[in-house]
Amino acid sequence: MKANRLEDEYIWVQELQNRMARLEKEQQAESEAEKRRLKDLHWMHCPKCGQTLSPEQCGSVEIDVCPSCKGVWLDMGELGTIVETAGKGSFFHSCLKLIRGGKSRPI
Ligand SMILES: [Zn+2]
Repeated sequence: MKANRLEDEYIWVQELQNRMARLEKEQQAESEAEKRRLKDLHWMHCPKCGQTLSPEQCGSVEIDVCPSCKGVWLDMGELGTIVETAGKGSFFHSCLKLIRGGKSRPI
């Protein structure tokens, strides 16, 4: 009788561990689905005004410019590239023309 009870407890613990593992997998899948949903919803949209960003080539970097508020979005590593090439002068000059659209105002 005692051995049976231990066996039952072992089976119960195994079942509980299996359920927990299954639940964890389901939560991970939901989390991934939520990440995909948010990415689809926000991809290439301005974080300030929600308009669709326009990719613009600026020297060796492709920046994403908001046509509405003129905000600029940089992908990972692009700021480093900009800073590295800043000394050469050509990158900022071409960016200023693009961002300001010919108007003279501070960055
Ligand atoms: Zn914007």
